[in-house]
Amino acid sequence: MLSTLKVSNTFAALSSGFYTRLPARGLNNPGLLHVNPDVAALLGLDSTQTGSDEFLQVMSGNSALPGGITLAAVYSGHQFGVWAGQLGDGRAHLLGAIAGHDENGKPCDWELQLKGAGLTPYSRMGDGRAVLRSSVREYLASAAMSGLGIPTTLALCITQSEDPVYRETTETAAIVTRVAPTFIRFGSFEHWFANRRPDLLKELLDYTVKHFFASEVNLAQNDAEVPAMVCGFLDCVTERTAKLMADWMCVGFCHGVMNTDNMSILGLTLDYGPYGFMDGFQANHICNHSDTEGRYAWDQQASIGLWNLYRLANCFVILGVSQEDLLKSLDRYEAIFTQAFQEKLVRKMGLHQWQESDAGLVEQWWQILHSQKADFTLSFRYLSEVMQDDSRFLGLFSDKTAITEWLQQYKARIGTLSITETERVASMNAVNPLYVLRNYLAERAIWDAKLKNSVTIEQLLTVLKDPYTEHAGLEHFAALPPDWANEISVSCSS
Ligand code: AMP
Ligand code: MG
Repeated sequence: MLSTLKVSNTFAALSSGFYTRLPARGLNNPGLLHVNPDVAALLGLDSTQTGSDEFLQVMSGNSALPGGITLAAVYSGHQFGVWAGQLGDGRAHLLGAIAGHDENGKPCDWELQLKGAGLTPYSRMGDGRAVLRSSVREYLASAAMSGLGIPTTLALCITQSEDPVYRETTETAAIVTRVAPTFIRFGSFEHWFANRRPDLLKELLDYTVKHFFASEVNLAQNDAEVPAMVCGFLDCVTERTAKLMADWMCVGFCHGVMNTDNMSILGLTLDYGPYGFMDGFQANHICNHSDTEGRYAWDQQASIGLWNLYRLANCFVILGVSQEDLLKSLDRYEAIFTQAFQEKLVRKMGLHQWQESDAGLVEQWWQILHSQKADFTLSFRYLSEVMQDDSRFLGLFSDKTAITEWLQQYKARIGTLSITETERVASMNAVNPLYVLRNYLAERAIWDAKLKNSVTIEQLLTVLKDPYTEHAGLEHFAALPPDWANEISVSCSS
């Protein structure tokens, strides 16, 4: 059934130092918990195929993808600001790429990767497994980001088993099948810099540019053209990373572990672990309990994105590119981020066009949200309706003094707009989601998944794939978190 798929593995054509070929180690007695039909459609898979036993065996790591080459890739990276040396796919197996199409119907190859399919030469102290809890979180977050229009790796399906996995407690194993054009990371480049292998660094660069940046960057035809290729490439990665940080911050998302090995070279959100969509806004919110210093707090993410880009750019010194040229690419980062963030904020706040005098209004907005710990998602969402009825909006603030005063200024500003009220409301609601994947919602889906019940996953996917529209009968997924949500603790353990 899967033998009709057009499968390739261009990554496997790289020199052997880039990976180790090895079969996945499958789950025992696996079951298919859920398939995301939208992702399946991108791969050209129909429900007969995704419902087949062959599909289950491939996605649970028990048989190879027909026509594919299974491998684990090597990479290195900086973790929490410190050089960590060699890492790699310690619990991920690349199966190959399926010829499908993108969201616009354009043909493209999608790589499939199993996360949690056993030990590889890069597993270090790990067991090569992923627990059901973190797999459900990754599965849902991939769909949530995609629904928000934020670049991300996708997740095709989740398989589960009773196999025990030992973390703080004994949990059970699962595998998420991840989908992306490539899983190459900043750390993939750092690996060859650290190993003093300009030849392999160049090979990786050529491969990446040829396959993923062909429309934006010219491949160097000779040594003299290498610096131009590197800088063109770095410009693209800089731009994508800066915009991704603006995207994340504007939906209250914290990645949690922005180590360079978790930074996608395509500017995708990659490696969902202790991430979080904020409930009550705290500018310095830390979602990862293992991040004791707050290195990856919400308001640090833009500067960490740049820090990571410095680590990437530095690699190309061994290709003979001058520091000055490399810095020129990175110097664009701040302006790109600031502009992207401001444009989004203008739209989120319904200001239509930025005016100098808006700076104070916006600054106060963040301050009040922060001091009141007001709900990030609903504060923006309900702000659209205040000209008609401000009661739901004001209900989000425990002390109404400062926000009532602020609202007067805001209403006066809105009164000066050249667009109609209907246009303003529609434009705000198109960028301020009603539904985000709050930790407590993921937790509910996990409880059900442990009972092999995917109803909550199914319902969450319905609202998350279209988070800007009200979904009748599923309003409860937009509710503020219950008190027990404060007890949820997410850490690097997954
Ligand atoms: P992370 O912080 O989850 O992105 O992982 C950092 C490194 O540890 C990567 O090289 C992972 O492949 C590896 N890793 C994480 N968890 C496991 C595990 N359970 N088994 C093997 N390797 C792991
Ligand atoms: Mg990782």
